[in-house]
Amino acid sequence: MPSSGNRTLTCLRAPDLKVVFSGGAGVDHVLTLPGLPDVPLVRFVDRSLTTRMSEWVVMNCLMHLRQHRAYEARAKAHVWEDLSQPEAADVTVGVMGLGILRLDAIRKLGVMGFKTIGWSRSKKVIDGVETFDGDELDGFLAKTDFLVSLLPLTAETKGILNASLISKLSRKGPFGAPVLINGGRGGSQVSMDIIAALQSGLLGGASLDVFEQEPLDSSSPFWDLDNVYVTPHVAASSDVKALFVHAEQQMDRFESGLPLEHLVDRKAGY
Ligand code: NAP
Repeated sequence: MPSSGNRTLTCLRAPDLKVVFSGGAGVDHVLTLPGLPDVPLVRFVDRSLTTRMSEWVVMNCLMHLRQHRAYEARAKAHVWEDLSQPEAADVTVGVMGLGILRLDAIRKLGVMGFKTIGWSRSKKVIDGVETFDGDELDGFLAKTDFLVSLLPLTAETKGILNASLISKLSRKGPFGAPVLINGGRGGSQVSMDIIAALQSGLLGGASLDVFEQEPLDSSSPFWDLDNVYVTPHVAASSDVKALFVHAEQQMDRFESGLPLEHLVDRKAGY
């Protein structure tokens, strides 16, 4: 992301913008651009990006389910030892954020056998999935063994993954302690709270693709904590070719007088 000075310049250099395109599915970095003109803002929605996010979500749920870290440690120590083996159906995956990315992820988690529930600002109806709206967060957390966040970063979701939320997660799952998986935005995390919960055993594990500060500092405890998978904001990277095809399609629509798709609600922040 360019420095704020460069970011101001970017907007000033293009004074007659009709539409602004975000280079990613998230728009938090665009909405904070100084001098952002009051024109429609379109975010990136792409089949391949959606399917790669599902791969990351399913892979991480499976790695925690199959206690992959523990087996890796045993293999390194040449220890032949089996662990308990619950199946996916014993685990309820709670997905926070039921937008574009959720349908594919929830469907693929279901194929693997996981029970899925979901939480979003407005109530959603998804076949076979218990859903909760913004006011029902505590009920959603109480049923969640693996928490998957696919939330955008907004004023409301900033710091939402904190000690209070972690304390409300279910401890009735097969591993006793819940797991946090965040592929949304790092600004939703309170790193200190998550680290403390992992150290105390309140959280049994985590998979974090995004961080409050990126790149993650080499001294961060996240790198070395047991049962924590760190990836460098690559759960679903934007493919540049697909991004240009998407922008071209929207420009064609705009020039033909058709409504733009995937418009950002600036007031809601996503
Ligand atoms: P989306 O279609 O805009 O969906 C956002 C979802 O979050 C909606 O269901 C929305 O609720 C819900 N939400 C927003 N604010 C909320 C709040 N305060 N309380 C409860 N629910 C709230 O977004 P998407 O395409 O699924 O993408 C989600 C985010 O993933 C992006 O914003 C981006 O930050 C992140 N992302 C990360 C990567 C990566 O590589 N790590 C890649 C792509 C995307 P409603 O349905 O009620 O509106």
